[in-house]
Amino acid sequence: MYYSNHFGGPPPPVDPPPAPPGPEPDERLLGPTGRPQPDFPEPPVLESHGPATIIAMCNQKGGVGKTTTTINLGAALAELGRRVLLVDFDPQGSLSVGLGYNPGDLDVSIYNLLMHSDVTLDDVVCKTNVAGMDLLPSNIDLSAAEVQLVQEVAREQALLRVLEPVRSEYDVVLIDCQPSLGLLTINALTASDGVIVPLECEYFALRGVALLKDTIDKVSERLNPRLVIVGLLGTMFDGRTLHAREVLQTLVDGWGDDVFHTVIRRTVKFSDSTVAGEPITSYATASPGAEAYRQLAREVLIRCHAA
Ligand code: ADP
Ligand code: MG
Repeated sequence: MYYSNHFGGPPPPVDPPPAPPGPEPDERLLGPTGRPQPDFPEPPVLESHGPATIIAMCNQKGGVGKTTTTINLGAALAELGRRVLLVDFDPQGSLSVGLGYNPGDLDVSIYNLLMHSDVTLDDVVCKTNVAGMDLLPSNIDLSAAEVQLVQEVAREQALLRVLEPVRSEYDVVLIDCQPSLGLLTINALTASDGVIVPLECEYFALRGVALLKDTIDKVSERLNPRLVIVGLLGTMFDGRTLHAREVLQTLVDGWGDDVFHTVIRRTVKFSDSTVAGEPITSYATASPGAEAYRQLAREVLIRCHAA
């Protein structure tokens, strides 16, 4: 039936034909972790900044992608308009190197902030070549802090004391931990709201995760009840091998939704961008690796209820 309204306008809209039924949830596209892949929408633009969510990048195993994830997740969060502070908390200073600083050339570092009360964050903080992302660099001096802190009162809270006053200036603080569960890592966990555990997608990666979980549980019981696991992140994933897919499956079987849907694939672009001293999001901006860290940034914001 056709009629026009009093104003001679177009006929009222007619209901469109019903859309074909959507796929059942388990028919949806499965992601690399074997679960239906959700969409992670762009987070809203922030009108103001802070207080920051502090996240430790933690795994006592070396070479699993902690530093790579700190740089690239930080850069991807900065692209989303978040103010980001990266904390190099490894005496090897790889995070500082990866952002173009030579640890040997530093006059002051995170070590001085931890140990000397007259040094302020402004004395130590460095700009990076990513707009909105700053760095607290470190060098070998930090290994002395581990020894010196042992004799201090509230030795586990030293990093918390450094970061608490700057929470209001940043949206996210990412702490790149050293590969151990020693006092520096305990400090990082005590200062944090959440922890991200990067894991290389190979069999031996799964050993040691239980010990790390024990440490996280102890810190949250005794020192920092805020602490939660933001997620376990599969890195260096090679989807062509059955082995890598099985490792991810085992991880999901044991840890369920604690495992990020986002998985970082293996590509040489990461080592190339480290040599160039910049994140993959600017070094190879359209590469799958850059896209993966952008998706991780959106997933992290949703998991931290900061989107
Ligand atoms: P960690 O900080 O846990 O010791 P890194 O982030 O330094 O680990 O990574 C160890 C090495 O692996 C580095 O040379 C880095 O460039 C490389 N790497 C990290 N992530 C990837 C990836 N997804 N694909 C290929 N190489 C990677
Ligand atoms: Mg590292």
